[in-house]
Amino acid sequence: MSVLPWDDAQDFEDVERGFVARSDERQVKAADGRVVWDLDAYAFLDGPAPETVNPSLWRQGQLLTRDGLFEVVPGIYQLRGFDLSVMSVIEGDDGVIVIDPLISKETAAAAFALYRRERGDRPIRAVIYTHSHIDHFGGVKGIVSQDDVEAGKVSIIAPDGFMEHAVSENVFAGTAMARRAGYMYGAALDKGPTGQVGAGLGQTTSTGEPTLIPPTVDITTTGQELTVAGIRIVFQVTPGTEAPAEMNFYFPDHRALCAAENTSHTLHNILTLRGAVVRDAHDWARYLTETIGLWGDDLEVVFASHHWPTWGRERAVEFLATQRDMYLYLHDQTLRLINQGYVGSEIAEQLEMPPALAAAWHTHGYYGSVSHNVKAIYQRYLGWYEGNPARLWRHPPEAAASRYVEAMGGADAAVAVAQKAYNDGDYRWAVELLDHVLFADDSHAAARALQAGAMEQLAYGAENGTWRNAYLAGAAELRHGSFGTPTTVGPDLLGALTVTQVFDSVAIRIDGPRAWDEHLTLSWVISDTGATYVTELRNGALNQRQVDVPAPGPCFTLTRAALIGLVTGTLDAARAVADGTLTIAGDPTGLQRLVSLIAPVDPNFAIVTP
Ligand SMILES: [Zn+2]
Repeated sequence: MSVLPWDDAQDFEDVERGFVARSDERQVKAADGRVVWDLDAYAFLDGPAPETVNPSLWRQGQLLTRDGLFEVVPGIYQLRGFDLSVMSVIEGDDGVIVIDPLISKETAAAAFALYRRERGDRPIRAVIYTHSHIDHFGGVKGIVSQDDVEAGKVSIIAPDGFMEHAVSENVFAGTAMARRAGYMYGAALDKGPTGQVGAGLGQTTSTGEPTLIPPTVDITTTGQELTVAGIRIVFQVTPGTEAPAEMNFYFPDHRALCAAENTSHTLHNILTLRGAVVRDAHDWARYLTETIGLWGDDLEVVFASHHWPTWGRERAVEFLATQRDMYLYLHDQTLRLINQGYVGSEIAEQLEMPPALAAAWHTHGYYGSVSHNVKAIYQRYLGWYEGNPARLWRHPPEAAASRYVEAMGGADAAVAVAQKAYNDGDYRWAVELLDHVLFADDSHAAARALQAGAMEQLAYGAENGTWRNAYLAGAAELRHGSFGTPTTVGPDLLGALTVTQVFDSVAIRIDGPRAWDEHLTLSWVISDTGATYVTELRNGALNQRQVDVPAPGPCFTLTRAALIGLVTGTLDAARAVADGTLTIAGDPTGLQRLVSLIAPVDPNFAIVTP
C-alpha cells in the first residue's frame, strides 16, 4: 500500500492560480426550469475527510469544486467547475477560440457568460473539439449557432474521424453505456458525505441538452498548422488514445500545450466502467513521448480539458513524462505477468505502481484504477476467456446463483455467512455471496439490505470516484428502486447518423427469432445525397449495401433526415407519404413488416438484481 504524499500541496496552489471571478448564478437551469448543474452542490467538501469518504478522493473532490474563470497565461483562460469537463478560451486579434464546450448547451452558455462578463463580448471565431466524447462538444449550441457556422463566421475544428466516432458510440451499445454511465458518474445520486462526492475526472455529468455541430475543419496529420484570429496552432493527432479520434495542440506564441484528455490529474481509463472498446495503453504512452519530443523544449504550461494546468517547463514535462510512464508501466507489467500465466484478476491484485509514480497525486486512480485498467489490458490482448476450461462454460448469473445458494444451505444460511463477512470487514466477499442470493431470489429482504450496506462500505473506502459512484448506485437501487437513466442521445446526435449508421441501428434492434422466416429486400433512394441502398433481411440478419440501381421489389425515396425520422419514430410513415416526404414504389407493406420486427430497447434495465 503506497503512502499518500500529503506534504505535496502544489495542486491546491495550481487550482487557484490565475483566478479571476466566480459566477453569481450558482444554478444552471434548462428552459423548463429544471436545474441541470449546481455550482454549490459540493460545498460540503470542506475540512477533513469524514469516515465515509476515502481521504484521497475527498481531497480530489475539494480540488474539483473550485469553480470560476481562471487565467492560464495572458490570452488563455479556463472556465472550470461548470460541468464534468473544462472549457478553455484563447483570445485573438478579432475574437476568440473556444476549446471543448462542455456537455450541455446550458452549462456551456453559463460558463461563457462568465467569460464575457469579465473579458468583454468578443466574438467566437472557432470552436475546437479535442476529441469525440460528448463532454467535449455537447454544449456547442450554447455558445455558437449552426447558422453562424454555415455562414462561415465560426469554424469548427476537430480531429479526423470525429463525426464517425462521436456518433457511432451511440449506435451500437449506446443504450447500455448510458445506463452504466448512470452508475459510473452517479448524476442521480444524492451528494454529500455519504453520497456522491465527485467522479474523479470532474464532479459529475450535467443533465441539460446535448447538441452537436459537425466540424468544418478536419485535422488529419501531426504538424498541421492553422492560424485563427491571429492565433497560431500546431496539431498532433493522437488517434486511439483516450478516444478513437483525439488530438493535442500547441500555441507557440503562448508556449502553451493543450493535452486534450491524454493527460489529467488522475490515472485515466484503459476501459471505462460505462463500457467502451478497450483503449491502447501502449499507443497512449507512445503519443505522449511524441508530445514531449515535439514541444517539451519550448512549452511553459500544459493545460487539458479536465482539471487544472501545470506551469513551468520542468514541472510540465515531468507531468507529461510521469503520465506517460504510468500507462506504459501498466501495459508492460501486465503483459509480463500475462506471460507468466496470471489472469487479469490476479494481476490486478498484485500489480503496484512504482513508489516514485505513486508519490505524485496525479497518478492516483480517481477515474481509472490500476485494478480495472490491468483487467482491460488483459482483455485487449486475450479477451474474456482465461484459458482455463473449468471457466469456459459457466452457468450465467441466475442459474449459478440458485446452485450456489443451494450449496450454501439455502438463502438464510448464505446471508448468515455474508453477515459474518460483513462483520469481519470482508465486504468484497459479502457482496459476492449476496449477489448469488439476490440472483436466486431478489425479494429476500435481509439480503437486499445487507447487500446495500456492504456496497456502501466499499464505496466509503474507495479512492476511485467511479467505483464509489457504482457501489452507491447499486445500494441506492437496492434500497429505493431504479433512479432512471437520462438519455444522452439528443436530436443533433441522431440527426448526424449516416445512412449506413441508420441501417446498422435498425439491424441491431431486429428481433432475430421473430425475423427468422422473413426474407425482405428493400431499396432506398436517399434523395438529398443521391445514393441508393439495398437492405436485405434474411436469416434474422439485416445486411446493407450501396448500389447503383434499386433492386427489384419495393423502393422508398426520401431524404436522410426523413429516414432518421422514420426509424426513430419522429416521422409517421402514412403522414410522410401523404405530404410527399416519402415516395413508395411497389408494395408498401414491406416497410411495415420491417418496422414490426424492430424490438424495443430497455434504457433502464436491472443491474444489481436479475
Ligand atoms: Zn472528457
